[in-house]
Amino acid sequence: MRTGADYLSSLNDGRVVLVDGQQVDDVTTHPAFAPVAATIAEMFDLAADPAQNMQYTAPETGATANRTFGIPRSRDELRLRREAIETWARHTHGWVGRSPDHVGTFLASFAAHPEVFAGEGRDLSANVTAFHRRLLDENLYVSYAIIPPQVSRATTASGWEGEFLQAGVVRETDEGIIVRGSQMLATGAAIADEVFVSCIKPLGPDDSDFAVSFGVPVATEGLKLYCRRPYAPAATSSFDYPLTSRYDEPDALVVFDDVLVPWDRVFVDRDIVGVRRQFFETGAHVLGNWQAQIRFATKLKFIAGVARRVTQVNGVDKIPSVQEKLGELAAVVSGVESAVLAAEYTAEPDASGQWLPGRQALYGSMGLQSETYPRVLAILRDLVGGGVLQLPSSVHDLTSSLTAKDIQHYVQSPGVPSEERIKLFKLAWDIVGSEFAGRHQQYEMFYAGAPFVVKGAYTYRNYAYDDALEDVAGFLQSYKLEDA
Ligand SMILES: Cc1cc2nc3c(=O)[nH]c(=O)nc-3n(C[C@H](O)[C@H](O)[C@H](O)COP(=O)(O)OP(=O)(O)OC[C@H]3O[C@@H](n4cnc5c(N)ncnc54)[C@H](O)[C@@H]3O)c2cc1C
Repeated sequence: MRTGADYLSSLNDGRVVLVDGQQVDDVTTHPAFAPVAATIAEMFDLAADPAQNMQYTAPETGATANRTFGIPRSRDELRLRREAIETWARHTHGWVGRSPDHVGTFLASFAAHPEVFAGEGRDLSANVTAFHRRLLDENLYVSYAIIPPQVSRATTASGWEGEFLQAGVVRETDEGIIVRGSQMLATGAAIADEVFVSCIKPLGPDDSDFAVSFGVPVATEGLKLYCRRPYAPAATSSFDYPLTSRYDEPDALVVFDDVLVPWDRVFVDRDIVGVRRQFFETGAHVLGNWQAQIRFATKLKFIAGVARRVTQVNGVDKIPSVQEKLGELAAVVSGVESAVLAAEYTAEPDASGQWLPGRQALYGSMGLQSETYPRVLAILRDLVGGGVLQLPSSVHDLTSSLTAKDIQHYVQSPGVPSEERIKLFKLAWDIVGSEFAGRHQQYEMFYAGAPFVVKGAYTYRNYAYDDALEDVAGFLQSYKLEDA
């Protein structure tokens, strides 16, 4: 299987990644991207190690492949899939949200339902299954941009003043479609192999030009990635910013300057119903978001560990009111961990034989995520107090002869040497206070859609309200006015 070295050597391919008004020469050496690319390379090495149990023989190709790209065909395969996702998530402690297993999962579910892509006109289903086979064979890292750029949310793209602000089809040729416009927000694309582009937000009847779905290499002529400000270059050291310095995934606005997308890479072509069906009638939204919850649970457990350690170091862990705070944290984290397992426990096969986690447990957890994550951060913030600021300015204060003695003497705790205390509190700051931390809060609140969408569309619709209503109706019928 493809190793980390194979992955890194494939990235210097002429891709157009833009930062600070400049095109990046090579993402594997640029300070914004090299650290997180190295992390992804480590993940590929893990997957290539048979001892990690992340491999299986893919029935689609007959070859060894990454289990997280497979279609789960039994309850047991679903469990093994979860364990493989956990192996990757544990490697980054959940701090890489768009690791290759995220979009790879969506693509697996697409391939489980090729009939959804047969469309009204052109049958594009073979493109979807061929793309999935390539994903399995080549162990690809695919990112995605499936949200219209934030221009105005008062109307959809057809109501905007500028033409083709959102990525859409300007014309077609014998070779494929010509795409112009932009789409947000491709996390990881700058260091990925491919980008999958579509639109998950509902479109109006005049938006058919924007109702497309396709996958292209990042290094495609006319494709440009406008990255947000990277945080890794400002991270003075791995000691000062232990998370920023390893896991700063780039987010980018993807711009298409009349990009030719060959027909064999098009999955949905100007079909408003088709773009929604790909997400919601293939199981992709369920399986893909379950991957995200598995990763989220891993991250929350890590944060809970940091919180508990902080209370030990500060000597407050035996105080009942502090234990109450740790208890609340444990309750929130257990809720997400339990939802992951409950979704697996209530899994069922769909019509194609693909096993899908239970929707109620999955979307229940997702519906609370925009409150869960800020609450977890608030508890950690409460527990660390000013300790995250009573810190030396950088690692140099620990080594300079001018400062080291004072730092070692004054910044310590009973039984906890200075270096260990400083490492812990700098880690806590990278969780609650750094720019990386702020981006992560935004990520966890929005990655699956704005909270009003997640709660209103997914959680509300997938709760067994019919059962609840029936229960209440039965109770109300059990007594009458005359009985009173
Ligand atoms: C760090 C980060 C990484 C991301 N990575 C990816 C990625 O890899 N791929 C990808 O495709 N997308 C990604 N996204 C984009 C993400 O999917 C979107 O942020 C999300 O779908 C919400 O869309 P929006 O940001 O345009 O918010 P909007 O839809 O503009 O909503 C913002 C707020 O406006 C209000 N609002 C807007 N419309 C309404 C309405 N109709 N009714 C009520 N209130 C409304 C709500 O308060 C809402 O929270 C990422 C986002 C973040 C923050």
